[in-house]
Parts: sequence; C-alpha cells; structure tokens
Amino acid sequence: DLVPVRRALISVSDKTGIVDFACALASKGVELVSTGGTSAALQREGLTVRDVSELTGFPEIMDGRVKTLHPLVHGGLLGIRDDAEHQEAMKQHNIQPIDLVVINLYPFEEVRFGGGDYASVVENIDIGGPAMVRASAKNHAYVAIVTDPADYARILEALEQNNGALPYRLRQELAAKAFARTAAYDAAISQWFAETLNIEAPEWRAFGGRLAQVMRYGENPHQQAGFYLTGERRPGVATARQLQGKQLSYNNINDTDAAFELVSEFDPSRTAAVAIIKHANPCGVAEGASIAEAYRRALACDPVSAFGGIVALNRILDAEAAEEIAKIFTEVIIAPDATEEAQAIIAQKKNLRLLLTGGVADPRQPGLSAKTVAGGLLVQTRDNGVVDDLELKVVTKRAPTEKELADLKFAFRVAKHVKSNAIVYAKDLATVGIGAGQMSRVDSARIAARKAIDAAEAAGLAEPLTKGCVVASDAFFPFADGLLSAVEAGATAVIQPGGSMRDDEVIKAADEHGIAMVFTGMRHFRH
Ligand code: 5GP
Repeated sequence: DLVPVRRALISVSDKTGIVDFACALASKGVELVSTGGTSAALQREGLTVRDVSELTGFPEIMDGRVKTLHPLVHGGLLGIRDDAEHQEAMKQHNIQPIDLVVINLYPFEEVRFGGGDYASVVENIDIGGPAMVRASAKNHAYVAIVTDPADYARILEALEQNNGALPYRLRQELAAKAFARTAAYDAAISQWFAETLNIEAPEWRAFGGRLAQVMRYGENPHQQAGFYLTGERRPGVATARQLQGKQLSYNNINDTDAAFELVSEFDPSRTAAVAIIKHANPCGVAEGASIAEAYRRALACDPVSAFGGIVALNRILDAEAAEEIAKIFTEVIIAPDATEEAQAIIAQKKNLRLLLTGGVADPRQPGLSAKTVAGGLLVQTRDNGVVDDLELKVVTKRAPTEKELADLKFAFRVAKHVKSNAIVYAKDLATVGIGAGQMSRVDSARIAARKAIDAAEAAGLAEPLTKGCVVASDAFFPFADGLLSAVEAGATAVIQPGGSMRDDEVIKAADEHGIAMVFTGMRHFRH
C-alpha cells in the first residue's frame, strides 16, 4: 500500500511553489531529476538536481519538443515493480524507477486565451508532459503523479505521516486528477482548432472547461456546484467584470446569462433595451428612448415578479437608470458598461452585484449549448436564429400594420428567450404579459393575459395593457384555442412559426376576428 519515494522527476512550466516543495523533498532524502528550465530554477536555489538529459544520455532537442520522450524516462515511470520480467528489463537497460512525478503542462490555455498567434499557440501544445502524466497515472500502483501546485502541501503532509512513503488511496486520487487534467488540456486544444477553423459541429468541440469558481451550493443548498469557463469569447456572465457585491450563486449565474443573452438580441445602435429576469424567464422586457425609460417600461409589465430579479441592459448604465433600478431590491445588474456616476449610485447598495461585459453578445454567433441527461450529454448548436433574418409570411386576409409588425418582431425576439410553452403579449415595444413554461399553449396564453390584468389593476388602469397588443408564440398553435384566448385578451396581430397540421383552422379563426397573422417558419423552443 505504501510506496517509499526515493526519486522524483520534476518538470513544470508554472513554477509556483516548486522551490519550496523541491527543498522539502530533498530534505527527506529524495533524489531530484528535472528538465532544463526547472532544473536551472532549482539549482539557482542551491539544490542538487540531476538533469534528465544526464539520466537519458540524450540532450534536449528541437527547442524542447523532445526532452523526456525517452525509454529511460518512460521505463522508469511505467515499469511494474513486482513483475520479474519488468524488473529484468529495467536492470538490463539500466532504467531507474521514478516514484514521484511533478508536472504541470505548457500553458496552452493561457497562451490561447492571451491572444497568442497561431504558431505560439501550437508551440504551447505540450507533448512530453502529458505523456509522462499519463504514464505515471497509469502506473499509480507505484508512482504518485502531482499535476497541481495546490497539492504540494498535501503530498508533504502525507510523506511526513508515512515515513517518506505515499499511500495507495492518495496515488489513486492523484491519478484521477491527472487524467482529468490531460483530458481538459486536449479538449482545450481541440476547441481552439474548432474555433480557429470556425467548425460548429458538436463532435468537434469537446466541452472541456477551466474551473473558475466553486459555489457555496448549487441550484439548491444540498447540491454542490462549480462554474467552468469554456474560453468562448462572448460578452456575458462568464467573461464579465464584477465591480461589487458578493460572489454570484449558481442561480444568479444561470439567470444573469438568460438576462444578458436576451438583451443582446437588441442591437444597441438601434435602441435601448432592458430585460428583468426571474428563474431564467423574463418578467418584463422593453425598448425605450433611454435605458431608464426602457427599465420603467419593463418593470411595469410585472412589478411583483421583478422583486429580487436580475436586470440586463444592452447599453451603458447611466445615473438616471441606476437611480431607477436601485429603487427596488435587485440581485444583479449586467450591462456593457456603466458611467462613474452610475457606479457611485450602485456602490451605495452593497449587496447589489454590478457586472460589466464590455459589449453585447452577437445573437448570430455560432456556438454550442449542452445539458445532461441520465448517462449522457445532449449537445446542440446555439439557437442563433434572429427574426430580422426571417422571411415573414402574412397568412391572413389582413396584413399587420407597420406598428403591429414592429411589435410582432419585438415579441418574437423575446419569446425566443422564454421557456416553452412561451406566449408573449407586447405593445409599443414592451412586453405586457408573458406566459412561460406551461405544458399547454392555451394555458400560457391565459396566464399571460391574467398577468396583464393584474399589472393593470396594480397600476390603477381602467383596462389591461393587452387591449390592442400583439402576441408571439414560440411554436405553432396546434389548435385555434390558444389563438382565440389571445384574441380574447385583446391581441390584434399574431406571430408564430406556423407548420401545424391545423394551420388552416387557426388561420380561419384569425380571419374571422380580423386578426393579422405572420408565420416565421422558425421555432424557438427553449427548455
Ligand atoms: P522546463 O521549464 O523544465 O524546461 O520545461 C518544463 C515543461 O516541459 C513542463 O511543462 C513539461 O510538461 C514539459 N515537457 C517535459 N518533457 C517534454 C517533452 O519531451 N516534450 C515537450 N514538448 N514538453 C515536455
């Protein structure tokens, strides 16, 4: 179970903590073998280190591309210590066993994300490092492989406790971590190629990520959670700069993402837009002449639900908008930027998180999304369909007016970001009722209408805001009932993908009520 550590091979790019670690090993009588740069760093501190090239009798060549790829190294890592034939081979070829291997790889991810050019990114693909990591991890019955400087202290402690030896369980755990590291490393390389070549097929882009944050808990307090970065360059919650407030929780990150992806549908050079999100669904979205106006209009849609929500903007947060948003309890604000004045206003709300993204995301950018199922991972390309790119087909006798058409496009843009079944009522480029996540479309239509009535009552209005509104549906109406429910709520125009077996029935019902209806030919399910 316990394997005494007599010889260690150290080859690290990230030299954090390595000198102290190596000193501690040396003081326990461990012989140190090392590669060029690492060896030099250790020798500078007065440590006695044997160069790998001395051990192999072969120099490091090709700018270090070949330094440890040698049978005298890999034999020492892979040889089974209690196998007679392996021992015989080791003796015959003068292969010396290596018991502890300390490696971290060429900084491929840093160079790649740091904007390195093609040649330097390729040069930072480590070959010998992963080969040694995998060899040592495979032979964990005899070898301990350390790939993370955060584990140095733990190794020294274990050596201390076990008289200079390491226990099997620890070597197993280190091996598990080592293979996770090489897998993520190769995934990052594959992902870089896919992005560079603009290949979108899921099988080309592994979902390797860098652990950026460990949360206190997941969606619920009894669940554990972590936040992994894929390295995709896309303004949003993963790449934003957080100016203030506590660390984001699992639900905050999920909701903030939904919020910012939604406002990113609104080109900031055309209009100001604000979305307020609760449980990944919008409870109000609006365009406006200014961010403050868009916020007021978004809030009016469902002021009750907006409490404790996430607010996303597509333009810079200014002082006027900051004042407005700070009036009610809000968890997170995410915006491309914020004026100094606005930052000062938000700073008075200590718990309010402010995230700045540097820009909006491109809704047309290709990319992948994933979710787990029992025993599997479902991967698909991002829903990057945009209503402006679609050929809208008028299917009713009456065509929508220009104003209706603008509202229809607005509503469909929002519906894309509402969980199915999604029904969105909109008027004057603001939502007035949103029905989300229902199992029947007609229920979503009714709930949205009910919410519009509540909002009108709360605001002391004589009639619900849905009077004379338009309605968007994320998928076709399978029957006329959902459409009729929207008409009853006051909708005068409809946008939906079309394509139902009973389209004729639905169109006929629309015509009977003088409704204008357009088909988009594109569905926006979201689950
Ligand atoms: P050093 O700074 O000690 O010269 O190099 C350390 C780095 O070299 C480590 O990141 C290690 O993974 C990597 N490395 C070790 N052996 C080889 C090899 O044979 N080929 C390549 N490409 N990298 C290696």
